[in-house]
Amino acid sequence: MVRLAGVNKHFGELHVLREIDLEIGRGEVVVVLGPSGSGKSTLCRAINRLEPIDSGTVEIDGTELPAEGKELAALRSDVGMVFQQFNLFAHKTILENVTLAPTKVRKKSKGEAEERARALLDRVNIGEQANKYPAQLSGGQQQRVAIARALAMDPKVMLFDEPTSALDPEMVGEVIEVMADLARDGMTMVVVTHEMGFARRAAHRVVFMADGEIVEDSTPDAFFSRPSSERARDFLGKIL
Ligand code: ATP
Ligand code: MG
Repeated sequence: MVRLAGVNKHFGELHVLREIDLEIGRGEVVVVLGPSGSGKSTLCRAINRLEPIDSGTVEIDGTELPAEGKELAALRSDVGMVFQQFNLFAHKTILENVTLAPTKVRKKSKGEAEERARALLDRVNIGEQANKYPAQLSGGQQQRVAIARALAMDPKVMLFDEPTSALDPEMVGEVIEVMADLARDGMTMVVVTHEMGFARRAAHRVVFMADGEIVEDSTPDAFFSRPSSERARDFLGKIL
């Protein structure tokens, strides 16, 4: 479903992605771990080419993403993204936040978009809040709206970059629960997170990055119980 081959990215002198090869199958849930600055966010952004890359190819569902242009925009809309900051539109209601892209980009009718939005808001347990504005919701609720908004585009892949890092601790669980649910339903997911519980429970694979390289790519069980690299052992020693 996602295939990166020979992807390199520099920021000036800094080589942030080094010859990244990564294949993610349909329905696979891949958790990306690694120290701060190892390139996890850049990798996520490279997957939909939000971040220009220096070399290599990115394919989604068998189609190579071009560097720019109309076709890129169309293919990019197959990839849903959820970030640490929810970035909801403050002056639109929750329902409007979720229907905006489907009506504008997918050209769905208002009625059809609203019906689907309400179903998605119910799915993330926020159906009651549809007519409120983002500021009236808690951080955990806003992040669940952001997930519903991404799902409204019927993405083939969902990318999550530290979706719970900006939340108060008591709200982390409700967002993780929604993500675990999606994983169970067979969504293809790439998740950068510090929630090791999610990694152990929901991931099929753990990809460990250090200094712009994929250092390990294994099952959660193998990664947590017998990491093969010094860098992964060091990382686990600090976080567990
Ligand atoms: P964190 O866990 O802190 O989020 P990360 O693994 O997501 O880190 P990236 O954000 O991908 O790391 O950054 C990788 C490296 O690239 C870091 O050294 C960072 O400082 C650098 N970097 C990221 N974005 C830019 C940019 N726009 N311009 C210059 N350097 C950048
Ligand atoms: Mg990051």
